[in-house]
Amino acid sequence: MTAIANFLRSFLLLEMLRGMALTGRYLFARKITIQYPEEKTPMSVRFRGLHALRRYPNGEERCIACKLCEAVCPAQAITIESAEREDGTRRTTRYDIDLTKCIFCGFCEESCPVDSIVETHIHEYHGEQRGDLYFTKEMLLAVGDRYERDIAAAREADAPYR
Ligand code: SF4
Ligand code: SF4
Repeated sequence: MTAIANFLRSFLLLEMLRGMALTGRYLFARKITIQYPEEKTPMSVRFRGLHALRRYPNGEERCIACKLCEAVCPAQAITIESAEREDGTRRTTRYDIDLTKCIFCGFCEESCPVDSIVETHIHEYHGEQRGDLYFTKEMLLAVGDRYERDIAAAREADAPYR
């Protein structure tokens, strides 16, 4: 009996008809694919993209070279060197992130006591050589300077949930 049922199912192309019916149903359904990059989906304010180093409104860099981010980074992607300035404060003389090592876990951002190192919403970047993804302090500060308004807005939106 099972053999006859299997034969009829194959002979009448029932699986194919079922597949065509499914295709037909989605042909007229609301489309959920988008035309990237012209169209984009909403992005969480907690999105973890390209890193940035932030400054205070007076232009002073936030980072106090405590090295917590370097210590917590599971990928050992951060390299920091520091020195004391003439005014007695400590600042980094080197702050590098090797983005080829980074796993975008966000631990550096979470550990920072002064909101200095952050991960922005920027994800459309690339490097053509390995060295292109090695971000120095100057590069990270430049990203922070350029996107400070977006960074501050995202952190303000997320603040009630932290
Ligand atoms: S996001 Fe994670 S892996 Fe990347 S630099 Fe920060 S702590 Fe390291
Ligand atoms: S970025 Fe933040 S956690 Fe990292 S060294 Fe600077 S102050 Fe410390």
